[in-house]
Amino acid sequence: MGFEILTAAQLIARIKKTGIKFKYSQFHHTFRPDHSNFNGSNHMQLQQGMKNFHMNDRGWSDIGQHVSLMPDGKFVTGRPFHVAPAGISGYNTGSFMTEVVGNFDKGNDKLEGAQLQAMIELQAYLIHENGAQLMFHREHAPKSCPGTGIDKGEFLAEVAAYRFKKKTVKSAVIAPKIQELEGNALALTENQQKVVDYLKSLKLTDGGNAEEYIYFHQVLKNTIDMFYRDLNKVRKAFAEDIDEIKKQM
Ligand SMILES: [Zn+2]
Repeated sequence: MGFEILTAAQLIARIKKTGIKFKYSQFHHTFRPDHSNFNGSNHMQLQQGMKNFHMNDRGWSDIGQHVSLMPDGKFVTGRPFHVAPAGISGYNTGSFMTEVVGNFDKGNDKLEGAQLQAMIELQAYLIHENGAQLMFHREHAPKSCPGTGIDKGEFLAEVAAYRFKKKTVKSAVIAPKIQELEGNALALTENQQKVVDYLKSLKLTDGGNAEEYIYFHQVLKNTIDMFYRDLNKVRKAFAEDIDEIKKQM
């Protein structure tokens, strides 16, 4: 059949490899088939059924969509990515088209769990990295697609939240700063202990060496200064990183 089953991460890697920059990311629901037609292992059969319908009944050259997203969160490939899809009249050139398998009109299937998560991951890539603009079918056609149960604003907020979470964890700026801070804290602790031990050994209460006492006092002070200076540097880096993340949302 020539179709492939891919996770969101695999699909994103595949799109990246093509180097294609998409203008629009089309979001559709299949309506039929819906969740009741999926049995957990018939990804290929459902995709072939849609391809047959598109080619035989509609007379298209191929299946309309680039990918279908099954209820288990797996994508099935369809039309080659470099060929414009058959999705939204007037907006197919430069589009990437996803058909989410289900009927998401209110009172029917729910977009949730693994299927929702996979769609969020794909759209986070398409919108924030590839540069595509998210487009619901109903914005340019008198239909409810991708379903009255899906709100575009809410969906975009979930994509942004996912993106924010991902950025925070993977931040290239924060991780080394935290390491640096931890290193400084450790150095401070070690130096503090050395000073305490040395001061004890001097037996200052018995009139010990005042010069050495001052020297170690100075070492301790410098270490503390360094710690707070670096702490402020880290605070500043965190603030800058948060600004950078907000810009990308
Ligand atoms: Zn549609």
